[in-house]
Amino acid sequence: MMVAVLALQGAFEEHEKMLRKLGADTLQIREKRDAEKQFEGLIIPGGESTVMHKLLSEPDIFDVLGERIAQGMPVFGTCAGMILLAKNVEGGKPCFGAMDISVKRNAYGRQLGSFHTDVNFKGIGIVPATFIRAPYIEKAENEAEILAWADGSAVAAREKNMLATAFHPELCDDTRVHEYFLNMMK
Ligand code: GLN
Repeated sequence: MMVAVLALQGAFEEHEKMLRKLGADTLQIREKRDAEKQFEGLIIPGGESTVMHKLLSEPDIFDVLGERIAQGMPVFGTCAGMILLAKNVEGGKPCFGAMDISVKRNAYGRQLGSFHTDVNFKGIGIVPATFIRAPYIEKAENEAEILAWADGSAVAAREKNMLATAFHPELCDDTRVHEYFLNMMK
């Protein structure tokens, strides 16, 4: 199974390590012709969503990936990746606007810039979760379903072929969230 990881900026290498640990093949997307290659799923990593948004538009990667996501290719966005998938972004502009969720950027404020906790993930169980200047989900509508909560805020959601987490599962040893995504690709 080939999983593409958007590698313009941010924490993409950690995702690749995790995927390889699970026996998946990975390829990095840095330019348009990478986005046109053969792969069955895509991960949009954490980083800085405004920077990634800009980098996506310039080399025209945006159109190719947006089209593939709209056609049903499984995609998993973590943190900034979740922001890029969301239809509504408080404190920023929507990018792919593919998932029926409203997210708030940097939602935990300065004092809680980074923290670690356990979340109860629907369909998986308790998983460790690292948050870094994270967004949370203010609203999930229509077919978007909340899968996890932390301290009363929604922090993971799924809508059909799309999965998003406000936290970084690639920064822990626990591989189950990535396994969940690989199962979405089967
Ligand atoms: N605060 C970043 C943003 O708004 C997201 C941080 C992250 O991906 N760890 O894009």
